[in-house]
Amino acid sequence: MRLSGNTVEPTFTRKVQVVVVGTGPGGSTVAKRLAEAGRDVLMIEAGAYVPASEFTQREGEMMRKLYHEAGLRTTDDGSMAMLHGRVVGGSSVVNYLDCFRTPPALLRDWARRFDLPDLEPEKMAPRFEKIEEILHVRKLAVANLNVNNDKLRRGAEALGWKGDTFHRNAQDCYGSGFCDLGCAYNAKQSAAITFVPLATKAGATLLTDARVDRVLTAAGRATGVEGTLLDAARQPRGTFRIDADVVVVSGGAIHTPYLLLSSGVDDPSGQLGRNFWTHPGTPVCGWYPGERIANYEGIKQGYYIGEFSDVLNDHPIGALLEGIGAPPGITATIFPGFGLERQRQLLRYNEYTAAGILLRDQAPGRISVGDGRPKIAWTFAPEDAWRMRQAVEKCAEAYLASGAKAALTGHNRLTVLRSTRDFKKLDEVGWSGGELALFCFHQMGTARMAGSPAGGVVTPSGRMWAYANLYVADGSLFPTASGVNPQLTIYALSDVVADGILAESAVAG
Ligand SMILES: Cc1cc2nc3c(=O)[nH]c(=O)nc-3n(C[C@H](O)[C@H](O)[C@H](O)COP(=O)(O)OP(=O)(O)OC[C@H]3O[C@@H](n4cnc5c(N)ncnc54)[C@H](O)[C@@H]3O)c2cc1C
Repeated sequence: MRLSGNTVEPTFTRKVQVVVVGTGPGGSTVAKRLAEAGRDVLMIEAGAYVPASEFTQREGEMMRKLYHEAGLRTTDDGSMAMLHGRVVGGSSVVNYLDCFRTPPALLRDWARRFDLPDLEPEKMAPRFEKIEEILHVRKLAVANLNVNNDKLRRGAEALGWKGDTFHRNAQDCYGSGFCDLGCAYNAKQSAAITFVPLATKAGATLLTDARVDRVLTAAGRATGVEGTLLDAARQPRGTFRIDADVVVVSGGAIHTPYLLLSSGVDDPSGQLGRNFWTHPGTPVCGWYPGERIANYEGIKQGYYIGEFSDVLNDHPIGALLEGIGAPPGITATIFPGFGLERQRQLLRYNEYTAAGILLRDQAPGRISVGDGRPKIAWTFAPEDAWRMRQAVEKCAEAYLASGAKAALTGHNRLTVLRSTRDFKKLDEVGWSGGELALFCFHQMGTARMAGSPAGGVVTPSGRMWAYANLYVADGSLFPTASGVNPQLTIYALSDVVADGILAESAVAG
């Protein structure tokens, strides 16, 4: 059953066995598992339910409808854009479909360093198999790469670097190129068309347009949640209160700590909101004069270079280089230069390839409670900036090796690299946030899992240490940054949490 905060009675109350806050990969996984186990489950989502027929492919309209703060959220210092979805299905609705299993070496590290034996790769493998089947994960064929991604592939192959096509959660994808504005063809197998409907099919109820403002607790137990019902213009139109035997917070790695901290929960670890890993990303473009690249056409993310990844290839830089299509609005905001110089660059839009660096960060930020919204404290640490510089150089090298006349970086100051001799220019430009366009698509780590309160915010089953029945299930659980695109890891860790709830909670099925 699906209910909307826009239409239910303006003082909505309900008593359920399990309430799940958020319907991204984390929340929907737990809701599906518990509903299938016979529990009475209510999913609550701040965003709207948006069917494929309403994905208009118009950038301004969809950004407002599908993203937190219309996609304009940034870190407090404004140095990094913070993109994440606010819609049924969460960011899985706007993501680029890349699917990586958590690299085995990383799972082993998490299992041993954070005392999480259930995360050993052999134990996680069956979870990934099950999740990949539901999400219809398949490897993209080289023949289906668009020109943009194929240039990156050719560059990597010319240089003898490791790289591959992505695995993707898609079915009958013909490459409309609008992944980040919602898939109008339902080809993307997001949580909104997989795990959420599987949960409702098993009996769960979905309440949309309803923002949870507080987790209610008493005497070491969570007793429910309360919040605000929203109308179609996202203005408050009422309130709700849900009493529950088990509360699961799955608002994503920014809103989960924000909600829990705003609710004043006990956190013996003292780490709630800390360890905010972001995979800082910056664009690099290749310029191929006279060629039609049209990086926005076709499958946006098709190919990655894994040569410089620490988790895939034990490389000290610790970055993935991923082909990426850039819509015109975002491109216009990040293109370097001013005035006529900028106009000249933008007129060449169709001749540019684009790739994004995905850096495995070593210096995390922190989420705390601001005045009515999350505060996102983060600065680009010099050690991460230095590795970013190395990764940008490698990406430029790949483009030059595949025939680009020049490579451009994402610096505010136009930085054009016409040959490897120009790479010394990279030592003359600044690398701090504010000097370089920085994007975060992956939020992780703010309620990390560990075997003891000294190590993390939640137990190996995702339960907050001070409560018998308050769980976290989303990207907040990551003990460290994953170094690869995180969605499959989030589904899999939340599957571990679902097992934990079933084993620990006394709620009968
Ligand atoms: C543009 C983009 C591209 C990406 N591409 C990829 C990719 O190719 N591959 C990949 O692996 N990952 C990708 N990601 C990241 C991936 O989609 C996310 O890491 C993942 O969706 C996070 O899942 P989650 O469950 O932690 O949270 P989310 O998906 O953020 O879901 C949380 C949900 O909770 C809701 N919520 C929050 N607070 C409240 C509240 N108080 N009350 C009610 N509801 C609340 C939110 O509205 C949201 O819908 C991308 C992300 C973006 C933004």
